[in-house]
Amino acid sequence: MIVHEILRNIFGFDHFRGVQEQVVKRVMAGKDSLAVMPTGAGKSLCYQLPALAREGTAIVISPLIALMHDQIRATEGLGIRAASLTSADSDRETTIARLRNGELDLLYVAPERATTEHFRRLVEQLPIALIAIDEAHCVSEWGHDFRPDYRQLRPLLDAHGDVPRLALTATADRRTRADILTQLGIPEDGLVVTGFDRPNIRYHVRPRDGIGGQLKQLLAGQPGAGIVYAPSRDKAEKLAEGMAGSGRPALAYHAGLDPAVRKRNQAAFVSSEEMVMASTVAFGMGIDKPDVRFVAHAGIPKSIEAYYQETGRAGRDGEPAEAWLFWGAEDFARARQGIETEVEPARQQGERERLNALAAFVEAATCRRAILLRHFGEDPPAQCGNCDNCLEPPATIDATEVARKLLST
Ligand code: ADP
Ligand code: MG
Repeated sequence: MIVHEILRNIFGFDHFRGVQEQVVKRVMAGKDSLAVMPTGAGKSLCYQLPALAREGTAIVISPLIALMHDQIRATEGLGIRAASLTSADSDRETTIARLRNGELDLLYVAPERATTEHFRRLVEQLPIALIAIDEAHCVSEWGHDFRPDYRQLRPLLDAHGDVPRLALTATADRRTRADILTQLGIPEDGLVVTGFDRPNIRYHVRPRDGIGGQLKQLLAGQPGAGIVYAPSRDKAEKLAEGMAGSGRPALAYHAGLDPAVRKRNQAAFVSSEEMVMASTVAFGMGIDKPDVRFVAHAGIPKSIEAYYQETGRAGRDGEPAEAWLFWGAEDFARARQGIETEVEPARQQGERERLNALAAFVEAATCRRAILLRHFGEDPPAQCGNCDNCLEPPATIDATEVARKLLST
């Protein structure tokens, strides 16, 4: 079959991974799909390969210009003809000419451009191989990264009713998925979900009680490189200092640092087998380090999805890895406050529910992995045997005490 030849000869892979083949076959057959696959599972191939195998240009809607440019560089290296239309591209006229001449396999477009009348007219008469909507959780107000432009894509999609549409995301709970399907007009049976389990990651959740000391204790028994997520820039620097002070190589990373320093710290971390990076959530995306042995959160993440993403940076090599979450009732109080003061009213209820889901996760006395996987729509066994609650069942947990702490904030 032609797709296997393209996989081997163009992409240089012997096999499809996970559900890639299923998704690619659906697109080849002209069917609409929503693929929910974890980060690193290889979503890009699901549209890049059919873009080559089908006639016409594939339109790829993607929210981040930097990610588009990375992908274009990578695909050009494989001899694939790709370009982007975004506010950051100065060669738009050339790109449009290439598009019109049928000289592009892939056209990456920012959502604010893809939704314009002008863009719809541009591609109206052209052969389109497929329309991919990457990071499709941005469609949903319920999702964690809502982008209003994503909600205006329907006219473009409907103008190409026969062209397969492929929505892709790594993080969508049931409600977000349902929303994506409805918004983009994809039938329910077009949903393809792959395993979210990261069996080599051991999850631990602890009340915070002097984080500096807790980290010191953790590091004493924890070899390998790791990331400590801090709730603020200031805290990231303090934690880095503290860890370095107790003898472990440690650096800080956050958006307030000079770009040259950030780059240097990141490079030092990537090449180290023992360094700890204390950072804000600015660190991690696009960092390719398979041997991160642990990820610790010094405060609560933004959501369960964010927690899964951030802890997922540990153990990409498949070797045992640890995820530690240290939380305090004040984290939830601050987050609640933030919702009331910073989130627009229409989204507050959703945000409250997301925060409550996170609270339920940290307070749970049952298998952490099962809660995470159920959140992502899977139906896992009741016990994983590789999280704190499975390994040391909290028989004596005082639930009323936890509840009192949460309510009193
Ligand atoms: P995602 O978008 O799902 O996070 P990417 O599309 O960026 O993931 O792919 C992650 C990595 O996996 C890339 O380096 C890609 O080259 C690699 N990859 C994708 N498909 C395969 C495959 N079938 N075999 C081996 N490596 C693959
Ligand atoms: Mg991707």
